[in-house]
Amino acid sequence: MARHRNVRGYNYDEDFEEDDLYGHSVEDDYCISPSTAAQFIYSRRDKPSAFTETLEEEYGYEDKEHSNCISSHELTGVEKAQLESCLKHMREVLGESVPEKVMVEAVLNSKFNVQQALDSVLAQTSNQNMKTKDTGIAGKAAKGKVRDFQTTRIESDIVPKVTKMTVSGKKQATGFEVPCVTVEENGHSTLISQKGLSAGDADASLGAAEILPKPTLPSQTVQASEESTLAPTPVKRSGKAKQQIDVKAELEKRQGGKHLLNLVVIGHVDAGKSTLMGHLLYLLGHVNKRTMHKYEQESKKAGKASFAYAWVLDETGEERERGVTMDVGMTKFETKTKIITLMDAPGHKDFIPNMITGAAQADVAILVVDASRGEFEAGFETGGQTREHGLLVRSLGVTQLAVAVNKMDQVSWQQERFQEIVSKLGQFLKQAGFKESDVAYIPTSGLGGENLVTRSQSSELTKWYEGKCLLEQIDSFKPPQRSVDKPFRLCVSDVFKDQGSGFCVTGKIEAGYIQVGDRLLAMPPNETCTVKGIALHDEPVDWAAAGDHVSLTLTGMDIIKINVGCVFCCPKEPIKACTRFRARILIFNIEVPITKGFPVLLHFQTVSEPATIRRLLSILHKSTGEVTKKKPKCLTKGQNALIELQTQRPIALELYKDFKELGRFMLRYGGSTIAAGVVTEIKE
Ligand code: GDP
Repeated sequence: MARHRNVRGYNYDEDFEEDDLYGHSVEDDYCISPSTAAQFIYSRRDKPSAFTETLEEEYGYEDKEHSNCISSHELTGVEKAQLESCLKHMREVLGESVPEKVMVEAVLNSKFNVQQALDSVLAQTSNQNMKTKDTGIAGKAAKGKVRDFQTTRIESDIVPKVTKMTVSGKKQATGFEVPCVTVEENGHSTLISQKGLSAGDADASLGAAEILPKPTLPSQTVQASEESTLAPTPVKRSGKAKQQIDVKAELEKRQGGKHLLNLVVIGHVDAGKSTLMGHLLYLLGHVNKRTMHKYEQESKKAGKASFAYAWVLDETGEERERGVTMDVGMTKFETKTKIITLMDAPGHKDFIPNMITGAAQADVAILVVDASRGEFEAGFETGGQTREHGLLVRSLGVTQLAVAVNKMDQVSWQQERFQEIVSKLGQFLKQAGFKESDVAYIPTSGLGGENLVTRSQSSELTKWYEGKCLLEQIDSFKPPQRSVDKPFRLCVSDVFKDQGSGFCVTGKIEAGYIQVGDRLLAMPPNETCTVKGIALHDEPVDWAAAGDHVSLTLTGMDIIKINVGCVFCCPKEPIKACTRFRARILIFNIEVPITKGFPVLLHFQTVSEPATIRRLLSILHKSTGEVTKKKPKCLTKGQNALIELQTQRPIALELYKDFKELGRFMLRYGGSTIAAGVVTEIKE
């Protein structure tokens, strides 16, 4: 208890919030992880060579034009390099919206002053637009390729064609009542609503463009000039010409008033995770009787009759894999008030890395423990995964937990056994940083389907248990706060080639929102691309927001540059990529003290990256956070410390105080989790 009070009394002034304490198994006498380091290393994938070929650019003219543009000027080697560098910078700002020829001229005229060149291109673009307006359609045609190109681009960028959205996988018949901008043939623009909004409404939408925190993208600077041509009143600032949406309201509509919740299922091998969730899905009607019968027959034939329900999830996993649009093992189901994305970590061998990826994207977790005698103990004590998983999810930011005390049928639904498990686990979970009120214990039988979607009627249970069934508990989790108002951030969990000209990435949107046609910056490699399509639960959508697991189709970038762990962000408010940062860490139960130069595996969001502890800056007082020792020689279990970490390759992260989700990480060594930390300073 004393230790617990210490944790609570910790001064989290700048880095931690009161309800966001870290795992603290510091006095445990056992190593918390059973896995090996090799098992754990799943760092950024190597791309098959087929992926290395440069993807066909969206605009075929570019390469030819590029060499022509440059070679038509007599430049020295140094000047050519300067020009290339300026063009690269300009492309980052302007995207693909301005032809290379125009940019080259501007750079040369400005004598390689990139800022001046940018200004002149932007001024030129808006001049062009003004002239076009003055001279009407005929004049517009005469203005040549630049203008035509811009119009085409802008039209395709700003007028999303699809307006359908999905509610739990079903297509909505009608679109949103949202205004959008149409650029008409004659170059005049009118703000129209898809359902006939009044002029007043249209104004309101422009107002929203000013208020909405969504930053204006570089390419939209050009769009804004376009808009100023078309609207009689000049646009004050480079507002979004794109369809404007009130994301919060649209989210409400899309989800039918339901909250989105990402749920990860964790627990020791064979605790019954797959059976429990498979049976739950079956009872919810996600698997028809015939399919279930097939699983029963097949699993019987394979001599694994008891695995029939577990096959429900495996089958779903396979389907997802074949569909190549979402992460493996994601299933969706609904409760009364929530839409749940269930993340299942299939396969035992890679369980911990998978679990970390899942947990990094989860809002809440179900911890499944086996109530059978000896089995709970095996999972909970030395070498078991129950403790490690508990600590990991908490360190990754999960604060609410449902513990399914499973296989209760094996212990005749005994209240004493249930209580014994609750008290053992409760103590540990408290130490790990879970608030008592945020942990619920549900007696279940995954195999028998008892107490899963309806309260059990069995007298063995009802005589002592009056609490919720598992589904009710899932429904009563508090909805997480979505950072819709913050700049866009998505951490890549998978990358693959699609059939078209671009490629796809999947991941959870951690902050902000995104629309088809947006430009995004990838960090690393610090390059921009365009969002050609967004899919949510395999359905195409126009936009998606924080909390959504999406698949994005991207163009204008080479797939080879993107790895798992890259962060896509808004180019105006980019995330920083660095190899050196400072952090406050809490050291778990370690046997070997940490010294300067200590090698670790840094687990951050979906990435695991080799890193070194470059400096030990200070040891902090556990309760007050004050520095108790500067430049310590080593760090031992249970200590709080300020350290500097160096990664081998750049990773994109944020300060914990700005973006919690992108500012926390874990350190592992030799197959054990040795510390959890938060980023306090990004160096370089
Ligand atoms: P996982 O490794 O945690 O996903 O566990 P599985 O779902 O694969 O289950 C492991 C074994 O435990 C299988 O043989 C299941 O049939 C069995 N099992 C799962 N839940 C229960 C339960 O509630 N009662 C009993 N008696 N067996 C169960």
